[in-house]
Amino acid sequence: MGLSEFDIISRFFARDPLRRTDVRLGIGDDCALLEVPSNRELAVSIDTLIEDVHFPASTSPSDLGHKSLAVGLSDLAAVGAQPAWATLSISLPTADEAWLEDFCKGFFGLAEQYNVQLVGGDTVRGPLVVTVQVHGLVPRGEALRRGGARPLDSVCVSGYLGDAATGLLVATEQLERVSPPVMLDRLNRPEPRVELGGLLRGLASSCIDISDGLIADLGHILEASQVSATLDLDRIPLSREMLDLIDAKVIDQHKALKLALTGGDDYELCFTLPNDKLKRAQAIAGAGNCRIIGRIGDNKVIKCTGGIKFTGADAEYFPEVPTGYDHFEGKGKDA
Ligand code: ADP
Ligand code: MG
Repeated sequence: MGLSEFDIISRFFARDPLRRTDVRLGIGDDCALLEVPSNRELAVSIDTLIEDVHFPASTSPSDLGHKSLAVGLSDLAAVGAQPAWATLSISLPTADEAWLEDFCKGFFGLAEQYNVQLVGGDTVRGPLVVTVQVHGLVPRGEALRRGGARPLDSVCVSGYLGDAATGLLVATEQLERVSPPVMLDRLNRPEPRVELGGLLRGLASSCIDISDGLIADLGHILEASQVSATLDLDRIPLSREMLDLIDAKVIDQHKALKLALTGGDDYELCFTLPNDKLKRAQAIAGAGNCRIIGRIGDNKVIKCTGGIKFTGADAEYFPEVPTGYDHFEGKGKDA
């Protein structure tokens, strides 16, 4: 016998073991009722993942469950919010118990890690689509934003870039499968930088999570802040695994750099730090969470959406900033 909509809700989604004290009413009524402390602002973000658009059909249900929540938590991290609650809208082609079991393993595994309670949602039949809304709490007036970068601030990133995009090449069989499948994990099980986002409150002048690639997302900071930036390509952090692939000639060095600059799905943070906050940020975040890759220019960019220039040994290789920004004009010269 197939499962009904209500069987699915009660057997899979309503059995979240988490019971936050600020949830007055969770799954089961028409609305959830949630308590927001008076000294906090509610940070809200929603993302939709569609099969074969946002994830390959080969993605396991557990990885999809993890990732559908992780991308939202990454948005909360980018504003420095503490995750609290989530709602889940899921469209399923069939009511497959094993599939649902596995999906929940990934979703609730990550939810538990960040004390996020699933408080409601919607369950329908249709093509495989997962939409997750996340809700977080941030001290009033302290949320990190995109618009605060100032001339001479350092441009920093957490972690390593380009691994998820490399994983996508493996998943779509454009690159040979390597063992262990680290790159696939980076694609399918991103780790949102929630702690880092919280630590950067009061230090970073701007912050964004890297979901669409460094160039595109840094571009949003620059546009919102009305500034330009110079990136040192020699400082773009590539993982040990990526360097191994380059050594093994599985992937070309410039291709790796291009993936790091433009590949999506890394879910690291890109942020700017004023000089007087740099040391403190590096001390509390740890060096690997706070690598300097460039500097905000001291010229104000008025009409520019790209506003990125490259320096470093590899700058020659990129006569233009990849991803098709129209207004790029630096061509590898220093700012
Ligand atoms: P309504 O018809 O009032 O919108 P539903 O029948 O869609 O409510 O859902 C019943 C309850 O189950 C609601 O509390 C809803 O939030 C919850 N719910 C439905 N689907 C999900 C899901 N995928 N995850 C979490 N909660 C869900
Ligand atoms: Mg209703």
